[in-house]
Amino acid sequence: MRSYSLIASAKINLYLEIIRDRPDGYHDLLMVLQSIDLADQIDLCPLGTDAIHLHCDHPEVPQDHRNLVYKAAALMAEKFPDAFAKYGGVNITIHKRIPVGAGLAGGSTNAAAVLVGLNLMWELGLNQRQLQYLGSLLGSDVPFCIAGGTMLATGRGEFLTPLPAIDNFYVVLAKYRSLSVSTAWAYQTYRHQYLRSDVLNASAIGHSKQRAYSGQIVSAITRQNEKQICQLLHNDLERVVLPKYPQVQRLQEEFQRLGCAGMMSGSGPTVFALTKSQQEAQQVLESVKRAIPDPDLDLWVSKFTRSSICVASSN
Ligand code: ATP
Repeated sequence: MRSYSLIASAKINLYLEIIRDRPDGYHDLLMVLQSIDLADQIDLCPLGTDAIHLHCDHPEVPQDHRNLVYKAAALMAEKFPDAFAKYGGVNITIHKRIPVGAGLAGGSTNAAAVLVGLNLMWELGLNQRQLQYLGSLLGSDVPFCIAGGTMLATGRGEFLTPLPAIDNFYVVLAKYRSLSVSTAWAYQTYRHQYLRSDVLNASAIGHSKQRAYSGQIVSAITRQNEKQICQLLHNDLERVVLPKYPQVQRLQEEFQRLGCAGMMSGSGPTVFALTKSQQEAQQVLESVKRAIPDPDLDLWVSKFTRSSICVASSN
């Protein structure tokens, strides 16, 4: 049986609007999601036994059943018991480059890689739609991480509509190493502060969806209008995360001072800025480093990409 090495890309949110909370504890969202080439590597090696073994080189990532990667492998074993019995267990190694708890869907993209990898390893022949369904059982961002590229996402984030690829952007990412934001906390706080008083009836929700599909950022992407895309970046969760974390707000302001479109990704605390060239991205990175000389601040340059999960090698 073959071993597989997969590349699992991070995502950023170009747009995140919270429409309403739902009785199941989730929220209906409107998002534009974009894959970037900052990525982890996931190695899958067949094991002779019926066990799932997991190793990760990052101290903050759990190496047991709490890891989304483990949950993805266990889900595949549960759904395809014959393949699991025939091919046996798997040894999974996560080489982490995506910062953890950063709003970049690190865990989700790792889980997506395991679904894609085991589909190949166990010769299941599942198509993307089937893999995305399995992904939706693991987390809201996993279906997007299987598809990748540029997508409009609705529902919890699992209903995806592909948008035209926008390949020309570079991204500067900034995150304080010691700071992470709980996604659950961010949504709960937003719900308490902003949604309780909002009585959204069906027509308001319909109107909001309408706004997204025919909305400004979608049409800017469709027309490949890069200037407008930068002007229309939006994230509702900034309303709760920025006041609580002034250092994240400061990063956002620094990007703005440099004339870049800056925005928080997901529930943060990563803030990103878009540029048109790698050189410009590098200059922005150096300028932020000079303006905020904090050894705890990590910065990366990345690029938009059309794919999320790729097989790097198999043998
Ligand atoms: P999202 O953008 O989907 O909300 P995130 O980027 O904010 O996710 P993750 O990096 O996925 O956050 O990590 C969130 C938590 O999930 C971490 O604190 C970690 O304990 C746990 N976790 C479980 N599996 C993984 C994994 N494979 N990689 C990273 N974190 C994981």
